[in-house]
Amino acid sequence: MQKQIIKNIKTVLEFYNALGFERLPISFISNKLQGANKQKNSSPITHHPSLDKEAALKALREEIGECNRCRLSKDRTHIVIGEGNPRSRLMFIGEAPGKEEDLQARPFVGDAGMLLTRLIEKMGFKRKDVYIANIVKCRPPMNRDPEKDEIEQCRNFVERQIEIIHPDVIICLGRISAQTLIGNVGLKITAIRGKFFDYKGIPLMPTFHPAYLIRNPKDKWLTWEDAQRVLERLKPRCRMQDT
Ligand code: SF4
Repeated sequence: MQKQIIKNIKTVLEFYNALGFERLPISFISNKLQGANKQKNSSPITHHPSLDKEAALKALREEIGECNRCRLSKDRTHIVIGEGNPRSRLMFIGEAPGKEEDLQARPFVGDAGMLLTRLIEKMGFKRKDVYIANIVKCRPPMNRDPEKDEIEQCRNFVERQIEIIHPDVIICLGRISAQTLIGNVGLKITAIRGKFFDYKGIPLMPTFHPAYLIRNPKDKWLTWEDAQRVLERLKPRCRMQDT
């Protein structure tokens, strides 16, 4: 355990050193240590207005490399990191890439992706204005749910994406995304959707996964209700991009 903690600290220091930071706020380190201990962490993420977000995401991608940290590496075609505007105020996070996403190396590009794009446009944005990612970056075989150990191996990457992008609101698409970021695997999406939670100081709204909405179109209006709550939260600053 101690060796793993030291390794995690070293990785974090190298990452921020590569971005040009000469020293780190203590919260960065304590967040990582708590993550290493797999404890729920509610410390707010430190916002760094001067951070070059493109460079930080690029450095993260290089760090992930041709990852084989979990068994999902075996059957994937591509690692699907995420895409969109690194300065977006709104971030969508699903659970895992599907077949189309695995082939194209892009998140949410199949039928569920088309539905997500329509939701984004109905909210008044363009898809390129927001940032879209998943909890795990490789497709689980037969589109099964990612397993606990796979999520634990991969979650550091999405947490780092959130830290870099630092959106004003996160929308979790589906149960697994919400359970992972809220830190409670017992939560049911039907019970938590439409309510704001806190992810390290960032409001987090769980809603249904678009794939579920394709199977249950009668629930689309509930997701639209959730999206409207998010729009209310974003209102105080009308720009879609951070500066
Ligand atoms: S799912 Fe994540 S941890 Fe597993 S191989 Fe892919 S990138 Fe690595």
